[in-house]
Amino acid sequence: MKNAYLTIDDSPSERMGDLIDLLQECGMPAVFFCIGQNLERYPQFAIKAIRAGFLLGNHSWSHPHFSKLSIEQAFIEIQKTDALLDALYQEANIVRPTKCFRFPYGDKGDGRKGYIFKRLKRKGVLRSQIIQTLLRGLGYTQPAWEGVSYSYYQNTLGKDADWHWTYDIMEWSVAQRRPNLGIRGLPQVLERLNSTAPPDLRGTIEETNIWMNSPSDEIILLHDHKETAHLMPAILNALRTKDLVFRKFEF
Ligand SMILES: [Zn+2]
Repeated sequence: MKNAYLTIDDSPSERMGDLIDLLQECGMPAVFFCIGQNLERYPQFAIKAIRAGFLLGNHSWSHPHFSKLSIEQAFIEIQKTDALLDALYQEANIVRPTKCFRFPYGDKGDGRKGYIFKRLKRKGVLRSQIIQTLLRGLGYTQPAWEGVSYSYYQNTLGKDADWHWTYDIMEWSVAQRRPNLGIRGLPQVLERLNSTAPPDLRGTIEETNIWMNSPSDEIILLHDHKETAHLMPAILNALRTKDLVFRKFEF
């Protein structure tokens, strides 16, 4: 048995209301990393999630690759969504418990565009440090993740202000014109969930034992997309049959 933390990106979609209901039925806590533009469109789902006890995080305003932005644009992307989240928590009449941020595509703005296992260039180090400072300045932080023992997380990712992930369900690939890693339907998503060595799109992992072969806790990545909403009941059910305890976020 190990702990799992469910993180859901790109919210709110028009199907977020159903996803909230489903998670509540399953008793699964989650954080929804929200895109500002989507929050403007579906604020009612954000309010519903806050009132139901889910945590809402910042996933930028327009979901850009941060490696392609100026520092000023990066700041605006973070700050606009931050202000909107503040307003939504206020409207829900709930104190915002913590500020969490996830970069679209996991792209920290360091030039690697999310391929975090690639070598980092000097210029990228500086850009990344500036953006991290912006995040910290706005109060963004991530939990200590004491049970996440992957060395790549403990030594690098875990020291940053943004949240990364340790396992990508990759259900988003089903809606792509060219599916990634051949994941074109529910069977391949479930096959990946049952795999002891699922490939990682971010590059080559130094760890030999990953996913259910590892004792490490997992930060699981899922998406709130209308195109894959129909897969959610089966995916959450499959997750529940694993040797995982879904935990609330501690901060
Ligand atoms: Zn995203």
